[in-house]
Amino acid sequence: MARILIAEDEKPINELIRRNLTLVGHAVAQAYNGTAAVELAESEPFDLVLLDVMLPGLSGFEVKERLRPDMPVIFVTARGNLSDRLQGLGLGADDYIVKPFEILELLARVEAVLRRANAGAKTFDLDGCHVDFGTYRVYIDGAEVFLTPQEFSLLDTLICNRNLALSREQLLEQAWGFDYEGDTRTVDVHIQKLRKKLRMDTRIQTVYKVGYRLSTK
Ligand code: CA
Repeated sequence: MARILIAEDEKPINELIRRNLTLVGHAVAQAYNGTAAVELAESEPFDLVLLDVMLPGLSGFEVKERLRPDMPVIFVTARGNLSDRLQGLGLGADDYIVKPFEILELLARVEAVLRRANAGAKTFDLDGCHVDFGTYRVYIDGAEVFLTPQEFSLLDTLICNRNLALSREQLLEQAWGFDYEGDTRTVDVHIQKLRKKLRMDTRIQTVYKVGYRLSTK
């Protein structure tokens, strides 16, 4: 869907991000120091750079200054203090995420930045189902299906994290909002409605002892 450069010197973190971005369908390149990140960004077109601040060679901030000014950037850093945040955003970063982070939070931010930058999916198609994120409308074989705002939000969360198993708690957090104090059975009820309305009985899978997954494979 999008081409994303991961600049991160900690190999397990770089690999974790790569695995998850690949699972949701993005094409990924990996750099382990600042110089390599700049070289890759100059030689290949990317839609987004995930940029660690503490990188060997050039720091993330130095890398940012060498990138195309309009290149979408999300800084990823262990240093969560305010001055770093201000420096990152002062350099024109699109977002900022502090390690350790939840992978779902990272994916949600990636999707949000890509959509703002017009590089993300404006639409999503699976079997006969067509989702338009610009108009919040959903069609099955060309006929509109009406979803409540909550059902649409849940569908959006499943699509953003497609092929990943999501717990009911994660779905509540992402689709209902981080401070929603609902019952996880609410998720089950809405999942049933989505399956029925979108004819996605086999696509929206129950993951034993975990929760749900939208399978696109
Ligand atoms: Ca680092």
